[in-house]
Amino acid sequence: MRLGVLGWPVAHSRSPAMHNAALAELGLSDWRYQLLPVPPELFEETVRALPGARFAGANVTIPHKEAALALADHATTAAQEIGAANTLTFGSAGTIGADNTDAPGLLAALPLHPRRRTALVLGAGGSGRAAAWALKGAGADVAIWNRTPGRAEVLAQALAVRAVVTAEPADLLVNCTSVGLADPSGTFKELPVRADGLCEYECVVDLVYRDGGTALLQAARRMGCATVDGLEVLVHQGALSLESWTGREAPIEAMRRAARDEQPSSSTATT
Ligand code: NAP
Repeated sequence: MRLGVLGWPVAHSRSPAMHNAALAELGLSDWRYQLLPVPPELFEETVRALPGARFAGANVTIPHKEAALALADHATTAAQEIGAANTLTFGSAGTIGADNTDAPGLLAALPLHPRRRTALVLGAGGSGRAAAWALKGAGADVAIWNRTPGRAEVLAQALAVRAVVTAEPADLLVNCTSVGLADPSGTFKELPVRADGLCEYECVVDLVYRDGGTALLQAARRMGCATVDGLEVLVHQGALSLESWTGREAPIEAMRRAARDEQPSSSTATT
């Protein structure tokens, strides 16, 4: 059986290393997970051809997550309510099922349960939406900040949470912006938090991953916060996808080791 990750660009994805390590650990020697670099104009026809090419499923990353949901024959509540899918599963008759494991993957990566906790989500793009949806569903009191405030307001209204224009203290701070990915030096200019103010957060999560860590997480560690990096979230969303394709419990440690040991050729990583 074949699996893969559809994205554009997707060359630096850690998912193949992570999933192939998991498949080997599970003894699924006839399964392979591969990169599927596909431009937007070829996305739908490529996906529809995958079941006939022995694909059991695929992960979906930027910029295809909304298109993946749109072409699916059926979708989980999570994918429908988030409005995006990161996991496609192909049925025996070639039917396409869509799921979103980014949301439960984030929850699984957290060192604390968000129920009755406060959470400040930075970002109202695709991952901000998934994070806010997950945290709200898990019982947190969620506030959303976004560089473009109108997008935070629209998202907050859709999810029945609050939009804020300045950062507020919270148990959990989750960076769902792309700040810190290309230029770490801009982190505390572009985000509404100060490095020495991070003690207002018990736990800081940064979906962005960089070799050596992001400026946000480095500062959070210095301030004594618990931290979760983007690779940990990547591992947990991947584990949930793998379980849905194989029906087997994902070997999280093997996936974590593979995701962390195999350095990409550039300093940034994507799903
Ligand atoms: P997206 O939909 O394009 O949203 C980008 C977000 O970043 C928007 O909220 C945008 O604000 C904000 N932003 C961009 N540049 C900014 C700046 N200079 N200052 C302040 N805010 C800025 O992207 P996404 O899919 O949500 O992904 C966001 C990041 O999360 C990416 O770096 C991605 O690699 C990472 N990610 C990681 C995982 C994982 O598993 N670790 C999963 C998904 C995503 P505006 O609305 O104002 O433009």
